[in-house]
Amino acid sequence: MPNRRLRHYNNCPRCPVLGAEGMPGEEYYEILALRFSVRIARELSRGHDLIRVEPFVLAKWLKHARVLDSHVDHVPLNSGYGIIVTLPAGCGMPLIDGNHRAARALREQRPFFAAVLDETETLELLRGSIGAAIADHYWKRLKASTLHPNDYGETDDEQLNH
Ligand SMILES: [Zn+2]
Repeated sequence: MPNRRLRHYNNCPRCPVLGAEGMPGEEYYEILALRFSVRIARELSRGHDLIRVEPFVLAKWLKHARVLDSHVDHVPLNSGYGIIVTLPAGCGMPLIDGNHRAARALREQRPFFAAVLDETETLELLRGSIGAAIADHYWKRLKASTLHPNDYGETDDEQLNH
């Protein structure tokens, strides 16, 4: 009798489901009220030049990214580049694909490379991910916002030192 409950490699929720390795489900990355399709992001990033992400930038980002520590050991090294999107009005450049690979690269002091989608591509990605009307709505709100990358949860230690 097959066990009908999904079982993942390593008993890890972020690892592939046993027996379904060749049929990856649709993967999304969510941040704020936004939802990005990783599949569409990969399509848009094809042919882009890759940049090497500075370790301190990576460390700062990973401090508040949702990373499952135990899964970091499960991702292979050098398993491809990450994808960074560009939000409008200086709202930040989240890494929407490759967070666990980035965490592993940082830990092992190896370089981590990413493709960067510019604002136009990011809006196109968002429209493909959640529909044009909702995407445009949130995009407009981001453009009008005063949100800064540090607002994701970082405290401003500098002010305390003054
Ligand atoms: Zn895992």
